[in-house]
Amino acid sequence: MRKNKLLALAAIAGMTVSALAGCGKSSGSDTTAAAPVQNTGAQDNGAEETEKALEGSLVSAEPKEFSIFLNFNNMPFDSSWQVWQEIEKRTNISLKGTISLTNSNEEEAFNLMLSSGQLADIIGYVDASELEKLGRDGGLIPLNDLIDQYAPNIKRTMEEDDRFRQTAYSLDGNIYYIPKNQELLSAEYWWIRQDWLDKLGLEIPATVDELHDVLYAFRNQDPNGNGLKDEVPLFDRAGWKMPEEYLYLWDTSTTFYPRDGKMTFEPMEENFKIGVKGMIQWYQEGIIDPEIFTRGASGRDTLLSGDLGGCTHDWVSAGNYNTSLAEAIPGFKMVPFAPPADQNGVVKERVSRYPGAGWGISSQCEDPVTVIKFMDYFFSEEGDELVNWGIEGDTYTKNADGTKEFTDKVLNSELTPIGYLRSIGVQYRIGMCQDGEYEKAVMTEIGREASELYDSHPEWFGQDMPPYADGELTLKYSADVDAEYKNIMSSIQPYVEEKFQSWVLGVNDFDAEYDQFIEELKARGIERALEINQEAYDIYLNGAN
Ligand code: CA
Repeated sequence: MRKNKLLALAAIAGMTVSALAGCGKSSGSDTTAAAPVQNTGAQDNGAEETEKALEGSLVSAEPKEFSIFLNFNNMPFDSSWQVWQEIEKRTNISLKGTISLTNSNEEEAFNLMLSSGQLADIIGYVDASELEKLGRDGGLIPLNDLIDQYAPNIKRTMEEDDRFRQTAYSLDGNIYYIPKNQELLSAEYWWIRQDWLDKLGLEIPATVDELHDVLYAFRNQDPNGNGLKDEVPLFDRAGWKMPEEYLYLWDTSTTFYPRDGKMTFEPMEENFKIGVKGMIQWYQEGIIDPEIFTRGASGRDTLLSGDLGGCTHDWVSAGNYNTSLAEAIPGFKMVPFAPPADQNGVVKERVSRYPGAGWGISSQCEDPVTVIKFMDYFFSEEGDELVNWGIEGDTYTKNADGTKEFTDKVLNSELTPIGYLRSIGVQYRIGMCQDGEYEKAVMTEIGREASELYDSHPEWFGQDMPPYADGELTLKYSADVDAEYKNIMSSIQPYVEEKFQSWVLGVNDFDAEYDQFIEELKARGIERALEINQEAYDIYLNGAN
């Protein structure tokens, strides 16, 4: 175990360096997709020698079209998007989406494609474990050798970025898809109404107990000044999806929770009792939004524009209200703050970003060499700029020092900046590296402050945390336990969620039900699932690839 720990720390040290290097982008002159074949080393290779150098960024001398299955955020791939038209011009490669533009159900479309037996040349999907399964079943081809021979930019990123490489490799040693990499570490931040704190003479809370006291005052001392006890101190527009962001305050969770090399299923641990009892109390005191489980995505707008909401855990966009509500609510000020320390005095942020699902090449693709060269293009400087920033001179400009800025067209369109970029095909879910600077360029000043505060504290994010996003572990499982694990959890997860809600809402009594609850978890196979996850976590810590 000690050895594992040291290896894990060594891996983390490497990770930090590569994160600073910026998604593995080389800082000097970058090669584009056309260069690789000539540069693959000293070994003579007849096939490479006969291949002619292509001009500019061309991936193919002749125009070629490939079919693609991809649907991101309910947007099926659309070849008419401006930036993909530009990509076609530069590379000679065009893509034809296979999902009807009116079909937004990704899972349904994916299952339909699989059952039809007609696979698109290129396949991307939201769930990386499904892409790996498709690879194991023969639907996606292993990309290892293709990357080695034809994709120098992807290869370099693999070498420089441990998280990217670990995400890309399946436990069977094959790479079935090119991940979408993430440059920024932080995702969500704690936000609080500074103007309410000032009004009540309170400080930013630094611990979970201080947070309780501040929120209790928000609830009971009328900081919005209307004479009504109508404040909703703690709210979350994703509470229906992830109420356990609050359990993190007590260093616990409703599910698996990797911590210092050991995997736990938190409902079976002491911390869970502390956390759930804390939430039950906060709910009874009116600190937690009474509609937490049902509020929905528009909850943040409703509560902030109504001058009702006091504190939340959310993306940088929570800072935008300082501008949009400046006139309606004089003095309105949301500020980011460090995660409150838990009952043991430890500051942690459990929500962060990881490289995620990207795209792979299907076994029915007749020209995988051209496709992998095309995929490599997005890791070259030119391709990277196109999919992060759009078109130079149109959506962004470059300053003399190399920094970039979005144009008014992006910043002041009728859509949000990200909405506009997505509407022309930028920031789609492909194998690429999401550039942190792109995101900072659309942040408000307070948003940048939040991002810089959290990104400057990598220790908050845990030293041996495996991919763990939106409350879900995305560890790698081998073929023989993958189905077994999913089967057990499909019975356990909904049961835990239902029980947890009923306790917080006061419908059922937590203390009275707890022992029976644990027995039921065991009957449903939790101990086996925990064993599978500990093995998967050990493999992760050993840095299998
Ligand atoms: Ca009030």
